[in-house]
Amino acid sequence: MADYEVIIVGAGLAGSTAAYCLAKAGVSVLLLERGDAAGTKNMTGGRFYAHSLERIMPGFAEKAPVERKVLRETISMMTEESCFSIDFNSQKFGKDNGSASYTVLRGKFDAWLAEQAEEAGADFVAPTHVDRLLMEGDKVIGVVAGDETLTADVVILADGVNSLLAQQLGMKKELAPNQVGVGVKEVLELPPQVINDRFGLNDNEGTARLFVGEPTNGMVGGGFLYTNKDSISLGLVVTVDQMMKSPERLPDLMEKFKNHPAIAPLVKDAKLVEYSAHLVPEGGIHMLATVQKNNVLLVGDAAGFCLNLGYTIRGMDYAIASGEIAAQTIIDAKEKGALSDASFTAYKSNLEQSVILRDMQTYRNAPGFIEHTPRMFNEYPNMIEEIFQSLFTVNDQPAVLAMKKFMPYVKRAGLLNLAKDAWKGVKAL
Ligand SMILES: Cc1cc2nc3c(=O)[nH]c(=O)nc-3n(C[C@H](O)[C@H](O)[C@H](O)COP(=O)(O)OP(=O)(O)OC[C@H]3O[C@@H](n4cnc5c(N)ncnc54)[C@H](O)[C@@H]3O)c2cc1C
Repeated sequence: MADYEVIIVGAGLAGSTAAYCLAKAGVSVLLLERGDAAGTKNMTGGRFYAHSLERIMPGFAEKAPVERKVLRETISMMTEESCFSIDFNSQKFGKDNGSASYTVLRGKFDAWLAEQAEEAGADFVAPTHVDRLLMEGDKVIGVVAGDETLTADVVILADGVNSLLAQQLGMKKELAPNQVGVGVKEVLELPPQVINDRFGLNDNEGTARLFVGEPTNGMVGGGFLYTNKDSISLGLVVTVDQMMKSPERLPDLMEKFKNHPAIAPLVKDAKLVEYSAHLVPEGGIHMLATVQKNNVLLVGDAAGFCLNLGYTIRGMDYAIASGEIAAQTIIDAKEKGALSDASFTAYKSNLEQSVILRDMQTYRNAPGFIEHTPRMFNEYPNMIEEIFQSLFTVNDQPAVLAMKKFMPYVKRAGLLNLAKDAWKGVKAL
């Protein structure tokens, strides 16, 4: 008999959710994490769409360590000296818990979720680095961590974007530099009232801001800013292949972003309390792994469940949803008395019916559109700057109609290019 019915590698959001759901259903489960505690190794931009956790734990936000409920959205095009923004705020955001979103800090949030799994009955051990999968022929029968060998009927790999264990099993290819972004983030501490005043927020209300153009020096990617209770998460993501070709260094880009005239006043006098860097899957459906094989199920980033559309980035809600679906697949198999690979094939079809694979299918053209429309990151922010600079400039020159002001800049970017990009964007996003 195996030591556990299920062993889960990685106590990120995907792993802890699977452990919670399994333990609640009476399945014996061990959750292993290489960090000193859950969340210590994990990073995100910081905005968590609540729907998937809300389904599992209704009203979770009242007890979980979430930071602020996001009620304000801003998307900005930046050049070195300008920032053009679309700013939208609405009290309607999140009136219904299922469509709310919150800013989170993974150190606190992941630790809380792993605690819920433990309270539900999961065994949690950290720090434990799983070195390899334990095989019997081509069947996975457990994991090897240092000198320890632990057996299980099924193993869930929730070990994140760079899942070496899934690669060892041939479930996942090595990461391609054009399908993965590298992100860097600073958490900058400020008193809550200062954050409220600077961002026009009430207590517990948050803002999510995304930036395109200058933060990445025109490379494919973008900047982000999220307000937490008493800190700001500020960072940027650049596609790895662009970063590899660039003479720029990511920490220098970050420093420049922080000192941009539109950002510097927002983070003035803030204290740096955390600095992190991480990879993010950006290939959408085109980089999905084989999600089930040889008694192993992949969840979260390990499977590639992440979508960056430029105006939203989602990975955490999919990590939780996939953790739940993997757990449910195993629970169903156990009820049928068959904890075997043949019954785990239902995992793929369960995913296909879920929001995860339906979204990834809907946005299948988004990664290609973003990768192959570099103008969005360089020419268009410059064009917008020139247009609005001329619109709002009043001097001693005779006035000209707005249309006449705009046309030279639009022509320079190319009317055909604009029309093509707009059409491709509408179809992909
Ligand atoms: C810069 C950046 C910004 C982002 N912004 C957002 C955002 O705003 N909103 C959003 O929804 N998503 C965002 N994402 C994506 C999101 O963070 C991920 O999709 C999500 O964290 C995936 O969760 P996970 O549980 O699958 O993996 P992870 O959070 O990576 O967890 C994997 C866990 O496995 C552990 N582990 C790995 N290997 C082993 C091993 N061999 N043995 C034991 N343990 C192991 C790790 O220590 C870790 O705890 C962002 C990502 C980045 C990098």
